[in-house]
Amino acid sequence: MILEDVGSQEGATQKVGDTAGTPVPEVAYENIADEASARAAFGLYQDRQLQVQAFDTEGVVSAQVWGTCPRCGHELNTQMTISTPIVGLREGRGLWAEWTRRDIPTTPGIPDTVEVGCGCGRAHPGAPEQVTGCGVSFRLPTTPPDTPCAS
Ligand SMILES: [Zn+2]
Ligand SMILES: [Zn+2]
Repeated sequence: MILEDVGSQEGATQKVGDTAGTPVPEVAYENIADEASARAAFGLYQDRQLQVQAFDTEGVVSAQVWGTCPRCGHELNTQMTISTPIVGLREGRGLWAEWTRRDIPTTPGIPDTVEVGCGCGRAHPGAPEQVTGCGVSFRLPTTPPDTPCAS
């Protein structure tokens, strides 16, 4: 009895590691807060492609930011809590004030601006483990841009 080695054709092709088929180049992860990103974010905000909504629920301030990330271009949807028991401690809105030259009346408790990090939910190349988003952070005003009285 000779058992012939039948069917030794190595079956299907198993070529793992061939990562072709990524037409859109991903932005590498970088923990960055540069002015270019800030300006891009501001532009998107003015075009309403990046929107902010702040809430004040019994002194607990939270904000939601959604729209297009100014750096990687992915859709992001971030919700954050900005509990501000101490008001007026951090007035870091220099760049924003430069652009607007106006004081925005806001509800006490809700800051003029919020710092937002990319929350696109995608793992970018070079990102630390379990970190999603492209790493950019920027500031956005918590008020809508020049709300037209259209309604
Ligand atoms: Zn992204
Ligand atoms: Zn991003």
